[in-house]
Amino acid sequence: MTTSEKNSGDVSLSAHVNFIRVRVAEDIASGKNAGRVMTRFPPEPNGYLHIGHAKSICLNFGLSKEFAGVTNLRFDDTNPAKEEVEYVESIMRDVKWLGFDWEDRLYYASDYFEKLFAYAVELIKKGKAYVDDQSAEEIRANRGTLKQPGTNSPYRDRSVEENLELFARMRAGEFPDGTRVLRAKIDMASPNVVMRDPALYRIKHVHHHRTGDAWCIYPMYDFAHCLSDSIEGVTHSICTLEFANNRPLYDWILDELGVFHPQQIEFARLNLTHTVLSKRKLIHLVNEGITTGWDDPRMPTLSGIRRRGFTPEAMRDFCERIGVARSDNMVEYGLLEHCLREDLNARAPRAMAVLRPLKVVIENYPDDKTDDVFDFPWHPEKDMGMRKVPFSKVLYIEQDDFREVPPKGYHRLYPGNEVRLRYAYYITCREVVKDADGNITELRCTYDPESRGGGSPDGRKIKGTLHWVSAAHAVDAEVRLYDLLFTASNPGAEEDFTSCINPKSLEVVRAKLEPALADSAPGWICQFERLGYFCADEKDSKPGAPVFNRAATLKDTWGKIEKKQGGK
Ligand code: ATP
Ligand code: MG
Repeated sequence: MTTSEKNSGDVSLSAHVNFIRVRVAEDIASGKNAGRVMTRFPPEPNGYLHIGHAKSICLNFGLSKEFAGVTNLRFDDTNPAKEEVEYVESIMRDVKWLGFDWEDRLYYASDYFEKLFAYAVELIKKGKAYVDDQSAEEIRANRGTLKQPGTNSPYRDRSVEENLELFARMRAGEFPDGTRVLRAKIDMASPNVVMRDPALYRIKHVHHHRTGDAWCIYPMYDFAHCLSDSIEGVTHSICTLEFANNRPLYDWILDELGVFHPQQIEFARLNLTHTVLSKRKLIHLVNEGITTGWDDPRMPTLSGIRRRGFTPEAMRDFCERIGVARSDNMVEYGLLEHCLREDLNARAPRAMAVLRPLKVVIENYPDDKTDDVFDFPWHPEKDMGMRKVPFSKVLYIEQDDFREVPPKGYHRLYPGNEVRLRYAYYITCREVVKDADGNITELRCTYDPESRGGGSPDGRKIKGTLHWVSAAHAVDAEVRLYDLLFTASNPGAEEDFTSCINPKSLEVVRAKLEPALADSAPGWICQFERLGYFCADEKDSKPGAPVFNRAATLKDTWGKIEKKQGGK
């Protein structure tokens, strides 16, 4: 039976079919959970969300949206030593930014501590859990290996009464950290190491950001996770592949307790070239000052890429395109940029900025003329309104748009050549002015007053079109040119991932912007014509003193615009 046949009933699958969607649709069709769909996004608040999390968020919220279900946001806050309120807040901000809403279903695993404790007591009473006095080292040594079975703990056959009493005393704070654990009594010879009497509770005299000092024992992730899903009534518990080996343990816990049994489904985590997506590594970048923080625009965190100028639309499109698979793969960073360009090409306003200014003096332009102002459209195709762009005798163009000796096929400015200044006039380079060291300081040009608006007065062909800014009206701005943070395509595979940090991941230039950009709102995104997409920095950009971050360079868009305008 094909997918479309299977889902020809009430439930239809959207264009991008993946195995999880098929699975959920099948469950609905078969009446499982009375057709109900509930997913959850379960971050541990021990770092900021990254692009990999976006895949999980889009998948979980996407499923509930598609199948008329709901998605919970649940903080898996069972390891208080590493968790912080700052992370909780950033995670909520980032999920909202991506465009998803958990409504009133904001949960914390710590809300269930009392229930989880009761479940553990129940397992002890069933003879399915015991308190082990072995040290962590002993437990590790007795676990066995992939080839060799483990050894039973000498405390494994304690009586139910003794276990209950010891577990109660663990909770009461009578024992120091690491002296005892509660373990599931499963099978020390299981071929799956996860099933060799895994720990369920450990002693940790640590303050918790939500429960304070109420607890000094905390449930292990594997115990808390499956039961939190069960308590909430999650129907499809979606997680990454590395948890496949833990599924038998989840099933064991849920079945032994006879509680609601969510279906765990694993998918391949996102790996992105030139990027690390492990919180441990991201924390290292932050703590060692390799980046300026979690929201450094070079970080693959959602707060980093947002600050850089990525849009939630582009992120969601990216997550849709990479799809969901069952085996690990590596996605090109270029695809992420491609999605951003597609989104912004369609809707970002255009503006003129000169990143590396070269002064141009129009010799035959009147010295005192100040009322030569153009109305430029904010977008070449969409009606996004107009802005005023003043022209004057002294301008800036991009240094790179001039060559004293032009290479073959160079259509921009060089001595004797005529180019079009975007939407304004034709100019011809007459003379190059240099300083004592031979550096070019200024170009002397003439303009054709008949070419106002960039159209050709006598139909003569002009191949080059340059962007420009009037010197007298220009706004000074700091522009941060970001590039990939890592030179290696798989930095995580290097012995030391910080050894392949790209030394050119950030270049700061003092740019000249057209006056309309002076008061850009922080977070405002536009295309600097011919240069790329830029975003007014949400932290450092101030009215009158803009700071822009480069989100991505352009690819081919300028080529198209140039062709269009050339025919004018
Ligand atoms: P990390 O390995 O970076 O520390 P984590 O899995 O420990 O990540 P959690 O906060 O537990 O981080 O993750 C929350 C959810 O996001 C989990 O369901 C996890 O499977 C998912 N997730 C984390 N990283 C990725 C990734 N690279 N691709 C897809 N999903 C991911
Ligand atoms: Mg995790």
